[in-house]
Amino acid sequence: EPGAEKWMSVYEWETGVFPTTRLHALAFPCAHCEDPSCVKACTTGALYKEAEFGAVLVDQEKCQGCRACYEACPYGAPRFVSDEPGTKMSKCTMCVDRLAEGMQPACTMSCPLRAFDFGPI
Ligand code: SF4
Ligand code: SF4
Repeated sequence: EPGAEKWMSVYEWETGVFPTTRLHALAFPCAHCEDPSCVKACTTGALYKEAEFGAVLVDQEKCQGCRACYEACPYGAPRFVSDEPGTKMSKCTMCVDRLAEGMQPACTMSCPLRAFDFGPI
């Protein structure tokens, strides 16, 4: 899907004082929050939490690109492939199509160090 490579944010930060410094990394696509602030902020009904896996998904037919979801999300998860006004939002889908086939999400399976895992917290 166009722009899918932009769905994963990787945050990096340093702690400590030289010579005992550490570099931390956090990869974050979307938390698929239990009570998602992005869904509450969306006035067109484009954002919803689907029942089977709890994924927060966007119906791009209904999306008007207002970016209220981006403002509401604490993690910057909603993405827009362009700065053009009206660009529709896209985000991590939890790979629900893969889950429906009994597979893990693509990010979990592609991490060579198995830093990712998938399931309810
Ligand atoms: S887009 Fe943000 S608020 Fe919405 S479910 Fe994902 S992490 Fe939560
Ligand atoms: S950008 Fe789309 S999904 Fe986000 S709040 Fe606006 S209409 Fe809803």
